[in-house]
Amino acid sequence: MTVQNLKKRPLSRYLKDFKHTQTHCAHCAKLLDRITLTHRGEIVSKTAIAQLDTLIDEHSWQIERPSWAALCRFCGDLYCKEQDHYFDIIGFKEYLFEQTEMSHGTIREYVVRLRRLGNYLSSQNVPRPSSPAAYLDDSFDAWLPPTSTNNYRIALRKYGQFQTLNQNITAHYQENKSTSDIY
Ligand SMILES: [Zn+2]
Repeated sequence: MTVQNLKKRPLSRYLKDFKHTQTHCAHCAKLLDRITLTHRGEIVSKTAIAQLDTLIDEHSWQIERPSWAALCRFCGDLYCKEQDHYFDIIGFKEYLFEQTEMSHGTIREYVVRLRRLGNYLSSQNVPRPSSPAAYLDDSFDAWLPPTSTNNYRIALRKYGQFQTLNQNITAHYQENKSTSDIY
């Protein structure tokens, strides 16, 4: 091993370089503008990164590196703060990206709307429905916020479509599974 390889630098330096080499979000592949760094799924602030002064060499950094990811702010917020949301926000976002032709901006609008609605429903202690059909009919009407009601209703319907699709995929999988059990 050469002297160069053994040279130790603070972890914060490696992270700074790492940040500069990342051009696209690790989750949605959007071109990065403002970057959020995460360590094992948790957001690490700029200030916290600056304080990571442990001296490590290149080899240790190569081991450390896979546990770090560069995300766009939007995904950073979603993946790190919305794991336990009223709605399956992450699944919904992926559904919109993969199964629809919506633009990034429109997807963002839907997601933001649904997040807001979820927070509202949680604060009102509205129970989660047992069937996705509830998102598609008027079951939620009594619970929707009094302002922008129609916008929330539209987002809810879209979410209902995603949940219905999810349920069908699961049902299909179960079907196949029982078939292969028989033969
Ligand atoms: Zn992203």
